Amino acid sequence: MSLHFAGLHHITAIVDEPQDNVNFYAGVLGLRLIKRTVNFDDPNTYHLYFGDEVGSPGSIVTFFPWPGAPHGTRGAGQVSAFALAIPEASVAYWEQRLTDSGITFGGPEQRFNEQVLSFYDPAGLLVELVTHPDATNMHGWTGSEVPAAYAIRGLHVVTLTVQQADASVRVLTEAMGFRYLATEGDRARYVTAEGGVGAIVDVIARPDLPFGRVAVGSVHHIAWRTPNDDEQARWRRHLIQHGMMVTEVRDRQYFHSIYYREPGGVLYEIATDNPGFAFDEPVETLGTTLKLPPWLEPRRESLERTLLPLDVPNQS
Ligand code: ZN
Repeated sequence: MSLHFAGLHHITAIVDEPQDNVNFYAGVLGLRLIKRTVNFDDPNTYHLYFGDEVGSPGSIVTFFPWPGAPHGTRGAGQVSAFALAIPEASVAYWEQRLTDSGITFGGPEQRFNEQVLSFYDPAGLLVELVTHPDATNMHGWTGSEVPAAYAIRGLHVVTLTVQQADASVRVLTEAMGFRYLATEGDRARYVTAEGGVGAIVDVIARPDLPFGRVAVGSVHHIAWRTPNDDEQARWRRHLIQHGMMVTEVRDRQYFHSIYYREPGGVLYEIATDNPGFAFDEPVETLGTTLKLPPWLEPRRESLERTLLPLDVPNQS
């Protein structure tokens, strides 16, 4: 199949307090807050984006903070964990940093020849830091407290927990261009393109597990990379031919998106690399002020009154 994804574009999760979210991802984990905007479907709430210096596709984790909203439940039909790539020589540094930050973590444990540290973020999301030999050749954000050599390089692996793996795997391998790599314990690994950092899905089958409820502390969706609108249109036709219900293209300002739900229950998105996060502000000042799409600019004054101010670590 000529269509394939280069890897992950971003993942989006639901959290509670925006300040806790910023303290954790920009403060403890040392990612750059690259965009401070609102949820286009619910503009009274933030949509916060974190990533590397420019918000490269594949480096991006985004959050809908819903303060005071109910927590979800963990279960089947969900992205049960997401992993961020770190260099192999950084494990001891991260163990110390997590300890100093008062974060309880598991590991390091060995999984598919990679070292894994796992912990929960303040909203209850399961986050992993996972080593990969290629991480040293990639760039992380150098503006945080984390030394450049140890910085997080971007997304690495997403873990799907589903009741029946077969249907989910069929969509990955027959419709989405993934191939099987290996199995370890209850975890089967699938990769797109050449595999490696950001190109991996692990599937865990848990027929015993009830479906989870997506709310605070849950991943909302994961997005795969496509270079441009033309290829996205090809994906859309291709997936429809494979029986997927795919949305129309939605303008997300920094990328264009289509969405479909895979049979295990997980929501996928396909997002374009363009136009990117420097679309409405210079790289130097990414994430420092509230950016709104043109159709919400008339509401700026009232939105700025509603949204709690954010104090961003390492950002003036
Ligand atoms: Zn998205």
